[in-house]
Amino acid sequence: MTESTQVRTRIAPSPTGDPHVGTAYIALFNYVFTKKNRGKFILRIEDTDRTRARHDSEKAIMESLQWLGLNWDEGPEKGGPYGPYRQSERKEIYQEHAIKLLEKGEAYRCFCTPERLAELRKHNKGRGTGYDGKCRNISPEESQKKADAGEAFTLRLKMETQGESVFTDELRGQVTRPYSELDDQIILKSDGYPTYHLANVVDDHLMKITHVIRAEEWIPSTPKHVRLYEAFGWQQPKWIHMPLLRNKDKNKTKISKRKNPVSLIYYKEAGFLAPALVNFLALMGFNYGEDIEKFTVPEMVEKFSFEKVSLGGPVFDVDKLKWLNGLYIREMDEEKLLDSIQEIWLNREYFKQLIPHVQKRMNNLNDFIDKTHFFFTSSLDYKTKDGKRLVPKSRDPKEMVKLFNEIAGKIDGLESFSIANLEQMLRTLTEEKEWKIKEVFMPVRIAISGQKASPPLFESMHLLGKERLRARLREAANFVEKRPTYFR
Ligand code: GLU
Repeated sequence: MTESTQVRTRIAPSPTGDPHVGTAYIALFNYVFTKKNRGKFILRIEDTDRTRARHDSEKAIMESLQWLGLNWDEGPEKGGPYGPYRQSERKEIYQEHAIKLLEKGEAYRCFCTPERLAELRKHNKGRGTGYDGKCRNISPEESQKKADAGEAFTLRLKMETQGESVFTDELRGQVTRPYSELDDQIILKSDGYPTYHLANVVDDHLMKITHVIRAEEWIPSTPKHVRLYEAFGWQQPKWIHMPLLRNKDKNKTKISKRKNPVSLIYYKEAGFLAPALVNFLALMGFNYGEDIEKFTVPEMVEKFSFEKVSLGGPVFDVDKLKWLNGLYIREMDEEKLLDSIQEIWLNREYFKQLIPHVQKRMNNLNDFIDKTHFFFTSSLDYKTKDGKRLVPKSRDPKEMVKLFNEIAGKIDGLESFSIANLEQMLRTLTEEKEWKIKEVFMPVRIAISGQKASPPLFESMHLLGKERLRARLREAANFVEKRPTYFR
């Protein structure tokens, strides 16, 4: 294959939170398709949203993809011929390109104030942000003059005003959208940073991406991207939008952490094996054939084509994952299994962290296990005398469901996952609710440990780790939600 026809794909995560199962799912399909075609798979970090981008998150994404064996050929740190591969290091490239569009008359300066735009958005009737194209008619001379005088502006791409945008999705065929729904897109913000659309398209072009394989949720953006390719006069890549992962609920809603843990770190910490998780993600849309459900990545590569991918909403069913994981566990060599078990939590390092919190309360050595078992079990039994304390007498079960879910949600928002921040968060929440300390602290203690006497609360929460802590709070919420009368 010549350079120009070589398949090049990418995964382009935004480092704004925990590494998501959806990212691994899309990475897998990119990876397999690329291997099948002996191409190159690229990791690009889309971190132009400066307020939300976080270094920790980028690191965790990379580690998780590596854990799953979805290694990339080019990317940050690793390098490659089309770097840098972090968008925050490419600001000038986007500016140059935005200016090219301005010079070509494909983009224009917009001087509208945020207040005016907010007003338009309020009265928007189906046309994107409701922007009315006011600045589109300013003459180039006038526009230059205003810019020279220091007026703040954004750059907007001229969209078509009539007809329909059409693109071909390799899985779905033609996708159309009336231009009347698409207003002139901002491509460069007033602070000189690009929007997602500009950066994404410029990079895909410069990095010679041939196939954009991404999640269905980006379909609404694609007409804007297609328009950018036209404006630059570039050839479009092939578009492939994978079906979204769904919760196992009645309406098959988009996968969400309210219903399933979605962080890859959780699955690792909860004892799932990387090959099992990858195999499970492969089943989300890919049909191996002959009713075979257990297969490795190389086997998938062998059989892969997008014709074998179906669009029916794939359901992320953790029970199925558990079943599959069991198959992998049972075929493990005993030594290897033992190593893997010890690697997760039953290791000296972890024990060392627990010791100082339980030593005072131990009378014999075996007490260690009794006092710390909740750090090792995967789920707790709340159907006990202590379990009843998930709901204090003074509170309604519904209030407790809400509380546990609220805390689980807030864990995500913590600046860093530290003992002090956990304590601060719980105290603030208690004050905001105007509840008594014990109405919050005791139920949370039960939720995470299943027992009323446990090592210090915040330390325990911290030692459980963010992912298991969150999962446990959700578990407690579900338990109370399903059995409100149990507590009365
Ligand atoms: N940064 C986008 C994301 O977070 C990339 C979408 C795309 O693949 O174009 O998923």
